[in-house]
Amino acid sequence: MLKWRNLRKNFDKRPELLRCPNCRSELQQSEVGPTAYAQKIRDTAPDIYAFTLLYRCPQCPWWALREEYISSLFLNLAEDYLIFPPKDASLADVSENTWERILTDEDLNPDSGVKLKDEEVQWLFG
Ligand SMILES: [Zn+2]
Repeated sequence: MLKWRNLRKNFDKRPELLRCPNCRSELQQSEVGPTAYAQKIRDTAPDIYAFTLLYRCPQCPWWALREEYISSLFLNLAEDYLIFPPKDASLADVSENTWERILTDEDLNPDSGVKLKDEEVQWLFG
């Protein structure tokens, strides 16, 4: 089961995700979404701006989604979440459309985001 990880619990500044942790190729990013959860936030709290980035590897099936929330009322309120196939997933498990299912999953709530493990910080951003 995939979980959102709250990058604010690991980093003070916004970390850049540049290279595929699987093959070290330079990741491509594009804006997608919003997720079903971000859409709910947009509907209930119009002062919160939510945006979703998709990171994809051009050389292998690896991907990650990143969702950030910025409040126009409290300028320093910025949440930063990342979701990705776990380190031990086989590439066969990292199916192309898994991230698309996450976009529409109403039960996958970034508020339940947990911290990255130290080994994941090294794997993703090291
Ligand atoms: Zn890759």
